[in-house]
Amino acid sequence: MRLIVGQLQVNCYILADEETKEAIVIDPGDDVDDILSIIRDKGLTVKYIINTHAHFDHVGANAQLKKATGAEILLHEADAALLSSSSGQAGMFGMKAEPSPPADRYIRDGDIITAGEVSLTVLHTPGHSSGGICLIEDGMVFTGDALFAGSIGRTDRPGGDLMTLINSIKTKLLDMPDDTRVFPGHGPDSTIGEEKRENPFLNQESGFA
Ligand SMILES: [Zn+2]
Ligand SMILES: [Zn+2]
Repeated sequence: MRLIVGQLQVNCYILADEETKEAIVIDPGDDVDDILSIIRDKGLTVKYIINTHAHFDHVGANAQLKKATGAEILLHEADAALLSSSSGQAGMFGMKAEPSPPADRYIRDGDIITAGEVSLTVLHTPGHSSGGICLIEDGMVFTGDALFAGSIGRTDRPGGDLMTLINSIKTKLLDMPDDTRVFPGHGPDSTIGEEKRENPFLNQESGFA
């Protein structure tokens, strides 16, 4: 299920196995009380907190959620330095974010992370940040700030690079079946087919094709 958290309206996703009640939380950016109330209501045990990347709007509730659940924080190593600067990043936007503890484990391209029957495959998709990842689960992909409905992530912050991001999306995401559902880090969901046809950064006229 999706929950929109924080001032920058991040999509936080909670994936759970109905039977074992084990869960994974993707991008707990803020509003830990809302996240925890769902977890308690549904009787979930959070095994992992996965950050698609370490911008503060995606990691702001890491510390509190870890404290409350004991879950491990997973991140791509190339974003480790970014994670340690997360509360400084928030300051630059005139916002506050609690510092995140370091990752418990670094994850890389091809890793599979499971909680009961939930199984996420990691795709390293740098370009928005160096350690940006997407996560694939049966017919769905969680794209963080790499790919949005009708847009792509900004590349003007440290670790960002436009051609790297376009290349990540083309080589890692666009070869998935057209009906794969896309769940981005901000905004509404989409499908791979729709993005191939409609996304101005990715279609034939973009100049990037
Ligand atoms: Zn970001
Ligand atoms: Zn973001």
